[in-house]
Amino acid sequence: MELHYTGTRNADEKVTASQAILKGLAKDGGLFVPTEIPTLDIDLDTLAGMRYQETAYAVMSRFLTDFTEEELKRCIDAAYDDKFDTEEIAPLVQAKDACYLELFHGSTIAFKDMALSILPHLLITAAKKNHVTNEIVILTATSGDTGKAALAGFADVKGTKIIVFYPKDGVSPIQKRQMVTQKGENTLVVGIAGNFDQAQTGVKQMFSDAALAEEMAVAGYQFSSANSINIGRLVPQIVYYVYAYARLYKKGVIAKGEQINVTVPTGNFGNILAAYYAKQMGLPIAKLICASNENKALSDFFGSGAYDKNRDFILTSSPSMDILISSNLERLIYHIAGNDAEKNRSFMQSLSSTGRYEITAEMKAQLSDFYGNYATEEETMQTIRALYEQTGYVIDTHTAVAACVYEKYRKETHDVQTKTIIASTASPFKFTRSVVHAIDPNACGSMTDFELVDVLSRLAHVEVPAAIASIRDAKTLHEGVCETDGMESVVRKFLHI
Ligand SMILES: *Cc1c(COP(=O)(O)O)cnc(C)c1O
Repeated sequence: MELHYTGTRNADEKVTASQAILKGLAKDGGLFVPTEIPTLDIDLDTLAGMRYQETAYAVMSRFLTDFTEEELKRCIDAAYDDKFDTEEIAPLVQAKDACYLELFHGSTIAFKDMALSILPHLLITAAKKNHVTNEIVILTATSGDTGKAALAGFADVKGTKIIVFYPKDGVSPIQKRQMVTQKGENTLVVGIAGNFDQAQTGVKQMFSDAALAEEMAVAGYQFSSANSINIGRLVPQIVYYVYAYARLYKKGVIAKGEQINVTVPTGNFGNILAAYYAKQMGLPIAKLICASNENKALSDFFGSGAYDKNRDFILTSSPSMDILISSNLERLIYHIAGNDAEKNRSFMQSLSSTGRYEITAEMKAQLSDFYGNYATEEETMQTIRALYEQTGYVIDTHTAVAACVYEKYRKETHDVQTKTIIASTASPFKFTRSVVHAIDPNACGSMTDFELVDVLSRLAHVEVPAAIASIRDAKTLHEGVCETDGMESVVRKFLHI
């Protein structure tokens, strides 16, 4: 049976999976959602015997129904290969009260790799299926993590080019090295003399420039986005929740059908929405625990039913969660409004005109599967230190926000018996300075980030990941910088238009 996708703000727009991936966003700014959530009609014993790649096919084939078996398997095999440093792809580690699902074993050691290693292949396949002959040009503004994961995913993928703009003085030294050493004939990385918002604005302007689009088309190009609202990023993220559940069963940690909790450090609401979809498919998940840092619009929303972005933006040690508008929340709002595009659109209009909206009591009643809370900076640091002292296991700042919120959940609800997975979204080596500082505030001194990598390796008894080791002495391949008003000419030069 073919599954279709419709816009969250307009029920009339109905497309296939491959078209939804190609378009990224619906015409009116809404997001694509499946018209129904497929059930996971596979026996758990069968799932428990599957490798990650097989689980990926079992889950994704139920959502991407217009891809042939051969097409989808080719995408999966190209994505989940030895770019990951473990055959398990997403291993589970038990520490203290929870099981950590490590989603950082891909080429950029953060969870974005889970979806961005397959998105380029889905996109290229989708283009072929829909007879798009233009070369796809991915244009991205990044505050650090997404840019590198997208570069790694698209590098040397035929039929694509990727251009990444980052704030020249606004990313960490390790993040910058990761990007400027990127190989691949089809890649371009440029620092802009401005902040992330300016980079983002510049990119959005180019996306909506009709004259530029026309010139691009004449030269055989079209823009596309690797943004986290693309359904082609969401679907691959459902896989690891199914995989993790089956692994827990296989290890004898849970019985067949036993409910588990899932805790997710949340920013744009993509990762936790994937867990929600897994639950809708029939995976026995009890609570979806949504963890925020001090930018706690989501935590407040789950408490009150009011989403309000009118607040100060706080820079924290978990920068990938420093977000005031969680884009993917729109998909949940649409579902709890009874898949009502009209109703959802009025909430989103209110969000863009007043910065807030409040859901109805009826909708709020449907949020009982969720628990939301947040961790302060101090609590996040304490969580890293305490877990290290008690178990020797080192987690990154984002994961620590989740671990802290999970402890709050246990204290508040007394639900200490349900087995719980915590999504571990980045290697501690990606946020070395904060992590070492949390464990031993005196250890950092005047050391560089790369010197701290060795300190952390000794503390954690973990080898320096290849993703870090390989960029230490790698050649800088992208020296380009530009002014904020010079972004378009950089793009034109790269594409020779
Ligand atoms: C992107 C990111 C998150 C937030 O995930 P969302 O899907 O945006 O909620 C959390 N941790 C890390 C390390 C990330 O890179």
